[in-house]
Amino acid sequence: MTRYHKNMYHANMYDAAAPAGSYWEDDAPPLSAGTDLGPLSGDTICDVAVIGGGYTGLSAAYHLARDHHIDVALLESGPLGWGASGRNGGFCSLPPMSLTYTQLIKRYGLDEARRFMASQVEAVELVANLSADEGFDIARQGGGTMHVAHAPGRFAELVEEAEILSKTFGLSVELFSREAFAEQFYDSTEQFGALHNKLGFGLHPLRFARGLAAAAARAGARLHGRSEVIAWEKTGNEHRLITSSGTLRARRVIIATNGFTKSSLQKNLADRLIPVLSNIIVTRPLTADELEAQKWKTELPCSNTRRLLYYYRMLPDHRFLFGARGDLTGSPEDGIAMRAQMEKQMGTVFPHWKDVETTHYWRGFVCMTSRLTPAIGEMPDDKSVHFALAYHGDGVACAPWAGRALANLIANKISFAEIPAPFLGIPPIIPFPSLRRWYLRAALGYYHFQDKQ
Ligand SMILES: Cc1cc2nc3c(=O)[nH]c(=O)nc-3n(C[C@H](O)[C@H](O)[C@H](O)COP(=O)(O)OP(=O)(O)OC[C@H]3O[C@@H](n4cnc5c(N)ncnc54)[C@H](O)[C@@H]3O)c2cc1C
Repeated sequence: MTRYHKNMYHANMYDAAAPAGSYWEDDAPPLSAGTDLGPLSGDTICDVAVIGGGYTGLSAAYHLARDHHIDVALLESGPLGWGASGRNGGFCSLPPMSLTYTQLIKRYGLDEARRFMASQVEAVELVANLSADEGFDIARQGGGTMHVAHAPGRFAELVEEAEILSKTFGLSVELFSREAFAEQFYDSTEQFGALHNKLGFGLHPLRFARGLAAAAARAGARLHGRSEVIAWEKTGNEHRLITSSGTLRARRVIIATNGFTKSSLQKNLADRLIPVLSNIIVTRPLTADELEAQKWKTELPCSNTRRLLYYYRMLPDHRFLFGARGDLTGSPEDGIAMRAQMEKQMGTVFPHWKDVETTHYWRGFVCMTSRLTPAIGEMPDDKSVHFALAYHGDGVACAPWAGRALANLIANKISFAEIPAPFLGIPPIIPFPSLRRWYLRAALGYYHFQDKQ
């Protein structure tokens, strides 16, 4: 029986008791003992309550506790890092938006566009610094990311992108012709030159989530996995977050639930978000001959110029990770179809690997807004409720940065004037939110058509 959740996708997608099924879950060291205090029990109090145990919530908790000595407790429906943070592709990169750079500048002006991009250079550095300062291993790979032209006509876009990234935003980039790229990185049926943005790297997302969680716990944050907030009341200045086994009282609340935000938690916010499914397959380790067949010799995370983008990277043990968007329901049957489709797509782009078996398939939500930029703010009708979300599929760097920004805002160490304009303000309500899946279906068809041009 197909059970659709009133929250847009199949109910299974919100079942935090079930593992994501990712390769990372099989590969990551377990969470350090004592980090997760387990389900909330009894009636507890704290200064700031965080809902959501991904990078945003964990970073907010970490910085509130470590930098500002604020009493913070975090509630997460599943195990810590269960959401997108523990199951993403591990591209630590920028930018967290779906606007083009030209649109960004046109809408917000050159100064704010530059502040936005500079904040995300800082975000990438924050990820590297957090793991170094707190002494955990994120299995970092590669120096930068590659944007690959998937069709001959698309190389011109990369030349334009290189110009803006270097001249307007001061980033270090390098362009490669099809031949030079094939010589140095890999060859494929959808490789017509590429742009190397030297900022960023690949990482192991669940190692990062678990390392950050352990650091937050060491700093004094109280982290409760398997503690879904199922009801939320407010009396006077006090919020009461209710789970199936306890109550957490707090004067301030951070919503860090991103694409997994249910309308039952905060309908006003949920109706402003567009969760989109992103899917990943991972192969068995490739042999040296198989790598040679595609001339593969890079650890750089790569994405291509498709509007329905493919993203891929070689993992340290030579498993190939391949990601794509496309599934619109999250149902088990559509998951099976999506996996088969992605295996076919991978085999078309990398024909020598078309028969290589995949060992893992999983999916999760990235989160978008209709204005196509992320959001950091406080609820207009209740300034004691803060949120940071909607990183448009680029949250590995941005989410920890946004969590830190929230911590600094709550501790009054910065004001909203210090947050770049593209982040500011609650996102607009989506017209007829129940039709979001149909809007996505239309966009999918349009992008599919564009990708064939
Ligand atoms: C398949 C996939 C691939 C991706 N690849 C990349 C990539 O390569 N690079 C990149 O930059 N970004 C990528 N992303 C996006 C990135 O993972 C996210 O932007 C980022 O992890 C968001 O972090 P977060 O903490 O805001 O949200 P999440 O990590 O999604 O955390 C939200 C948490 O809130 C919890 N929650 C929800 N409701 C409640 C409740 N009522 N009570 C308690 N807890 C609740 C959920 O269980 C969830 O764990 C990818 C995402 C996916 C799904």
